[in-house]
Amino acid sequence: MLKKNLVCIVCPNGCDVEVLLEEGQKTEILAIDGCTCDKGKEWVAQELTRPMRTIASGIPVEDGDFKLVSVRTDAPIPLGKIFEVMAVIKEKRVTAPVAIGDILIPSPAGTDCNIIATRNVAFTG
Ligand code: SF4
Repeated sequence: MLKKNLVCIVCPNGCDVEVLLEEGQKTEILAIDGCTCDKGKEWVAQELTRPMRTIASGIPVEDGDFKLVSVRTDAPIPLGKIFEVMAVIKEKRVTAPVAIGDILIPSPAGTDCNIIATRNVAFTG
């Protein structure tokens, strides 16, 4: 049996959480103490069994009024996929115009997310 301490990041309350778990082939959560809501309990369970993260980055733009467009994942991705996804983003180049919400990279590294633009970049030629 193992004890882990986490800080829940779901909301600004940042509850301190203590978890008792059994780590075998599959992590089994025996008890969660300190979560004050069900959303927090769901996050703790996911964090210990399949942690997920979102990514924000930038992609170079040609012929635009900005040289870089800010981007993010439109859904969380498995923590273990972050470096692969960042490598795909690093290789990408786009040409203006770009609009907020445009999908610039669909399913990077085989994930279930898309990389979308989070700013507009106008064409300047
Ligand atoms: S346990 Fe609930 S109240 Fe506490 S930080 Fe997480 S989401 Fe917020």
